[in-house]
Amino acid sequence: MNTLIQLDISGHAGRAIPKLDKPFKLTICVTQTCNMNCQLCYADCGSAKKPELTEKQWKNFIDELVREGFLHVFFEGGEPFQRPDFEEILAYCGRRLYIAIRTHATLIDAEKARRLKGLGVGRLYVDLFSPEPRVQDELTGTSGSYDAAMAGIRHARAAGLKVTLLAILSRWNHQHLQRYMELAQALDCDQVGILRLYPLGRARQRWSEHSIALNEMSEALVALRVPRGIQLMQSWHPRDGNCCWQNAAVAPDGTSIGCPYLRESVDYGSVLEVPFLETWRHPLYQTLRAQEVEDACPDCAATQGTSGGCRATAYAFHGRWSAPDPYCPHTNHGVDLRALPQRLLRPDP
Ligand code: SF4
Ligand code: SF4
Repeated sequence: MNTLIQLDISGHAGRAIPKLDKPFKLTICVTQTCNMNCQLCYADCGSAKKPELTEKQWKNFIDELVREGFLHVFFEGGEPFQRPDFEEILAYCGRRLYIAIRTHATLIDAEKARRLKGLGVGRLYVDLFSPEPRVQDELTGTSGSYDAAMAGIRHARAAGLKVTLLAILSRWNHQHLQRYMELAQALDCDQVGILRLYPLGRARQRWSEHSIALNEMSEALVALRVPRGIQLMQSWHPRDGNCCWQNAAVAPDGTSIGCPYLRESVDYGSVLEVPFLETWRHPLYQTLRAQEVEDACPDCAATQGTSGGCRATAYAFHGRWSAPDPYCPHTNHGVDLRALPQRLLRPDP
């Protein structure tokens, strides 16, 4: 069981910072392989760039998580279903851990959906860039990907799996968010997550084509009318949380990275070499969890109980871990989100 070990009031503006003895949730980035080639992919997925953990190694890691009292594991990739042994790994979780999966859903047929339900999968988070088939196929670089995703989602719902649709807010969908919500409702999804476009992976390559200004993001979100039965999740003011304090992630090669969006910036050690909780105590990991930030939005602190917004985004734009998150209008300070710093435009920052 996770334990809240301390409330430290030394944080920004004397606010209480929760301290955990281990994270609530851990993301396993189970592979970097993917059958799509999305322009917005923040992990540059396609082929594996480094050797990935084997089925046996992931199973050993799952045993470690269960031993340590973890309750919740979130799988993502790449595309997790691209791994032939993925269902074996899920089965090994064996109802010992709550399971959620991020996927593009195009590899889910009726039989697989029923198997996933039988394996105890709690929820699918399905990436869908646009409610427009043509735009989706263009952004994924894969003809027919929209129709395949629709089929996968319908199979999942028919099998009784809960589905959250995930939209990365970009030039290509900010004027179609209402239709996106209506599509989610028509597909019988109960949640929509609107995610920011992170300046990572392939998303950096044509950043100025994909990105929009902060005011365009705010306008799109403010105009949105959330249909009955849909819960909206988003991470802009006034819900711009800094979730570093409770997050954990392990990359396909076993590197502990804190969060999938930090994969280019941190290395807390390999779970093949040290116990996961030793990586949790890495000095930089502790610093990010402490929320020592230069500036924070008071409204977001009030609604989220955390300070400074997303550390991955702040670091990407400013190159400092303590920098303010430029995706919040109160802490943007004139940063043009359509223009990336030069160091991010190089192939390997
Ligand atoms: S964004 Fe998702 S579906 Fe697209 S290439 Fe990356 S991992 Fe694959
Ligand atoms: S880097 Fe951003 S998304 Fe990731 S855990 Fe930290 S605040 Fe949350």
